Amino acid sequence: MDNYVVMIGLEMHCEISETNTKVFSGAKNEYVDVPNSNVSAVDMAFPGVLPVVNKKAVEHALKISMILGCTQPEYMYFERKNYYYPDMPKNYQITQETKPIPVGIYGSLKFDCKGEEKTVRINNIHLEEDAASLDHYETFSTVNYNRAGVPLLELVTEPDIRSADEAVAFLETMRCIYQYAGISEADSRKGQIRCDVNVSIMEKGKDESDPKNWGTKVEVKNVNSFGGVRDAINYEIERQIELKENGTYDEMEQQTRRWDEDTFTTIFMRSKVDAIDYRYFVEPNIPKYKISNEWKESIRASIPKLANERKEIYMNEYGLSEYDSKVIVKDKSISDYYEETLKLGADPKISANWLTSVILGHLNKTETTINELFLTPNMLVDLMNMVSSGKISSKQSKEVMYKVLEEEKEPKVIVKELGVEQISDDKTIRDIVIPLLDEHPDLIEDHKKGKNTFDFFVGQVMKATRGKANPSLTSQIIREEMDKR
Ligand code: ADP
Ligand code: MG
Repeated sequence: MDNYVVMIGLEMHCEISETNTKVFSGAKNEYVDVPNSNVSAVDMAFPGVLPVVNKKAVEHALKISMILGCTQPEYMYFERKNYYYPDMPKNYQITQETKPIPVGIYGSLKFDCKGEEKTVRINNIHLEEDAASLDHYETFSTVNYNRAGVPLLELVTEPDIRSADEAVAFLETMRCIYQYAGISEADSRKGQIRCDVNVSIMEKGKDESDPKNWGTKVEVKNVNSFGGVRDAINYEIERQIELKENGTYDEMEQQTRRWDEDTFTTIFMRSKVDAIDYRYFVEPNIPKYKISNEWKESIRASIPKLANERKEIYMNEYGLSEYDSKVIVKDKSISDYYEETLKLGADPKISANWLTSVILGHLNKTETTINELFLTPNMLVDLMNMVSSGKISSKQSKEVMYKVLEEEKEPKVIVKELGVEQISDDKTIRDIVIPLLDEHPDLIEDHKKGKNTFDFFVGQVMKATRGKANPSLTSQIIREEMDKR
């Protein structure tokens, strides 16, 4: 391993989920369980139907192109990629190849991998339609056209990635961008993110910037989870090193393999020499469309604050540590939850503390997401308010929180059940303090002479109320009553 440099290039597919309809038809773009319920004549390629480009999908595509610092084209074009497969009733996919240019070329993404900043160059990003999904059974297969025509973005990187960790960090950063930019939920469990990984190795010490020195590219198709990306890359690195060590690497042809989740191996599919000729040509049913500067500027202005910008605000305006800020922005739904508590009047630091300590720990332990959490931002704010108003102590609030999460009951209900409500009522405490002072005139004298007998009285009140008296109010009342004597 130490003798080789690993080169990885990713082709990341991300479905755009934030459009109402599909990219070329009026069928709903919605993830549903009932097969073939969101399908139109266009998705089924009935005779005589024509595609109509979804403007919103193009805007999302241009938005991501801008975020990644790519160059946008002057005109929008599409191309046909011809092939026969049951997931594609038209027998071609409408996509964008490098010519004419896609929605973006030559950008880059900076991201953090285990505390180190990395940069990966983006070769291009293009907009296309997703294919139907196939389910294979023992003796037959089924086709679900709900996915046919779902807008799909494909992003192609240069081979600048050097390890499985870097590949996963890159993908996590991209997922985050898709979510923050309001383009996609980017949920790999729903199959919204899928990757092809390209892996090769070369001897250390050679000039990495010269493609002549690169190793033979092996493409692993359709890896559907980030864990799969990590495992597939690590498997390929090991497999290729073995070929180098036994002297057969140079015989290896450029090839396409697939990741097999059952055996945890990559399996040979086809060699590049049998590469399919897709006979690309410009899609004649979609006229080229001018991308005006005004349109571009309005799209650029619509880009919301992304994770990094929110992180800066958390650090500079709310005084959170860099670590906590990073933890919160890593997942948009957590950051949104946090901001919701602030809108409801929460103290930024206290709210962040609850999130990064107790709540995220609970989500990890139960393997759930914050959207499934019983505790709403409203309830969290309720709990924080109970502490700041002295209704419960901050120590007790921890106990309440654990019970809320465990028993899924509102904080105010748990506070009642636990009987931890603090006594913050002036009269109740004063009625304990007055007879107590009456009993100990000697200690009041001592106090006046400068001896500390104050803590004794506080302790007695706590004892009488089984710790429920609000400590600061208790001290205040004792002081007032002593001063009267
Ligand atoms: P193709 O035309 O075969 O699809 P591309 O040149 O478009 O190949 O590259 C596809 C992907 O493979 C890109 O992400 C690119 O960075 C990556 N890639 C190209 N050459 C190599 C290599 N030698 N090792 C690893 N990845 C590579
Ligand atoms: Mg390719």
